[in-house]
Amino acid sequence: GCGICINKCPFDAIMIIGLPEELTEPTHRYGPNAFALYGLPVPQVGRVTGILGPNGIGKSTAVQILSGTLVPNFGEGEGNWERVLEYYSGTVLYDYFSDVVDGNIKVSQKPQYVDLIPKAFKGKTSELLEKTDERGVLDELVERLDLSHIIDRKITELSGGELQRVAIAACAAKDADFYFFDEISPYLDIYQRINSAQLIQEMAEEKAVLVVEHDLAILDMLADVVHVAYGQPGAYGVITYPKGVRIGINQYLKGYLPEENVRIRPEAIKFEVHPPREETDVETLVEYNSFSKSYDEAFSLETEEGSLREGEVLGIVGPNGIGKSTFVKMLAGEIEPDEGELDLDISISYKPQYIKGDSPLQVQYFLRGISSKFDTSYFQSEVAKPLQLEQLYERSLTDLSGGELQRVAIAACLCRDADMYILDEPSAHLDVEQRSMTTRVIKRFAENSSKTAMVVDHDIYMIDMLSERLIVFEGEPAVYGKAHQPASMQAGMNQFLENLDITFRRDEDTSRPRVNKPHSRLDREQKAKKEYYYHN
Ligand code: ADP
Ligand code: ADP
Ligand code: MG
Repeated sequence: GCGICINKCPFDAIMIIGLPEELTEPTHRYGPNAFALYGLPVPQVGRVTGILGPNGIGKSTAVQILSGTLVPNFGEGEGNWERVLEYYSGTVLYDYFSDVVDGNIKVSQKPQYVDLIPKAFKGKTSELLEKTDERGVLDELVERLDLSHIIDRKITELSGGELQRVAIAACAAKDADFYFFDEISPYLDIYQRINSAQLIQEMAEEKAVLVVEHDLAILDMLADVVHVAYGQPGAYGVITYPKGVRIGINQYLKGYLPEENVRIRPEAIKFEVHPPREETDVETLVEYNSFSKSYDEAFSLETEEGSLREGEVLGIVGPNGIGKSTFVKMLAGEIEPDEGELDLDISISYKPQYIKGDSPLQVQYFLRGISSKFDTSYFQSEVAKPLQLEQLYERSLTDLSGGELQRVAIAACLCRDADMYILDEPSAHLDVEQRSMTTRVIKRFAENSSKTAMVVDHDIYMIDMLSERLIVFEGEPAVYGKAHQPASMQAGMNQFLENLDITFRRDEDTSRPRVNKPHSRLDREQKAKKEYYYHN
C-alpha cells in the first residue's frame, strides 16, 4: 500500500482515499465511531442535481437532512436548527434550510427499492396513484409512463418495471418543493429510462430535483450538475461540491477528483472504440439455425441463424418483453424451441435474469461446491476480490440483498467450466462502482480464458465496454420479438438506436458515449447519415 490507504484496494494496487484537508468536521455523525457524512448536495430549482457514487455512502442520510427529518449534528450530540443556520450562513443552503425550518419545504421521494411497495400497499394501481395526485396530473403521467393497461391491476401483481414506473408517477404527482428520485433505471429498458429522464427534466424547470442514478449514460443526459460521492461504504462518505455533469462523470471515470485532490480509484475506467476484428483470425465456436418459440399464442419469438466466435463477448440489446431472456434460455438448454433444432455441441454456463437465494448455504460453500476453481488464486484475484465477495463468504444465501446475490451469481456463473458464458442482466441491483468492476471482471475473464460470453443488459456503458458484436432484438413487446443475427457493434448499435430515435457521440476526453440532445446539430447530422452511434 501507499501508507495513506484507508480502503483495501480490490486489485491490490495502491488506492488513495483520503479526506480533503478542509473536511475535518462531518456534517453528521450517527454516533461515536458510527457512519459520518461530509458535505451535502445542494438542490436548486431549475436544474437536475445528480449524485454519483456507490451505495452506503450517505446519500439517504443527506436526503433526510435536506427534508428536515434529520437535524445534522456536525459530529456529535443532538443537532439543532439554529446551529445549522449559523453554519450555512452566507451559502445557498442557508436559504434552503430557512425554508425547511419554517416548514416551507415539502419533499416527495421515490424510494430506491420498488420491490418493497407491494408489501406496504395491497390495493389497485389506480388507488395508489389517485392518493398521490396532489397536482392533478395523473392522466398525463399515466399516458407518458405507459401505465394505462395496468391501472386496474393490483400493485401486488405488477412486474418490477411496472412498479418502477408507478413509483416514478406517484412521486411526480405529489405537490412538493423538493423531489428526490433514488434511482429511476432499475427494471426499465433504455427507452423507458430515457422517457422517465425526460419527464424528470421537465419537472426540474420549476422544482428542485435530486437524483441518484447508477446508469451513467442516463445520469449524463438527465442531470445538469453532479455531486460525486466517495469514501468507504458504511464508514464515511464525502459529497463533493457540484460539478458540471460532463466533468463530474469524467473525473469519476478517471478515478481522480482534481478540485478535491483525491484519488477515488487506483485506475481509470476506460472506453475503447474497438474496430471490428479481422475476419480471418477468428475461429467459429458454434453455429445455430433459426428457431422459434411461442408462449400460449400470446408471445412469439423468431430468431435469425447465427454463428458465435471463440473468445468474443456479444452484447444483447432490446426493449423489455421482446424475448431476450427466452432466447438465451433456449441457447442454454433451459427451454426447448418449438421449431428448429438447437443442439449446440458446447457446454454453457448461464446466469439467469432472476436469481433466487433460497438456500441457507453459506456463500463460500455454495461457490466451492460449484468448482474447485473457486479456491485458485486466479479466481480469487480476478473474480472474487473485484466483486467484493470476501465479506459475503460467511453469509447465508437467503440473507443476501439483491446486489449481493447478483455478485455471487455472476461469480458462480464464471466459476463453472464451460465453452460459453451467458449472463442475463448482470448490472441489475448493482451500484455504479460495482457495475464498473463487474464489467472489468467479465472482460478480463473472456480475454484471459479465450471463452465466448454473451451479456444481456440495458446499461449502454456496460454493453459498450464489453461487446465486440451485438445481437439486436426488435418487435412489439409482449407480442412478438425477433432476434437478428450477430452484427458488428457499429451496425448493431445503429439498428438499435434508430429504433429508439436517439444518437450518441463520443466524449473527446474519455471516449465514453454521450446521448446527443434531440434536434441538436449533431443529432440531426448523424440521423441524416444514419450514424446513430459512431460518426467521424
Ligand atoms: P446510501 O443512501 O448512500 O446507500 P445511507 O445514507 O443509507 O447510504 O447510509 C450510510 C451509512 O449510514 C450506512 O452504513 C448506514 O448503515 C448508516 N446509517 C444510516 N442510518 C443510520 C442510523 N439511524 N444510525 C446509524 N447508522 C446509520
Ligand atoms: P425480455 O427478456 O426481452 O424482457 P422475455 O423473454 O423475458 O423478454 O419475455 C418475452 C415475453 O414472453 C414477455 O411478454 C413475457 O411476459 C412472456 N413470457 C416469458 N416467459 C413466459 C412463460 N414462461 N410463459 C408465458 N409467457 C412468458
Ligand atoms: Mg429478460
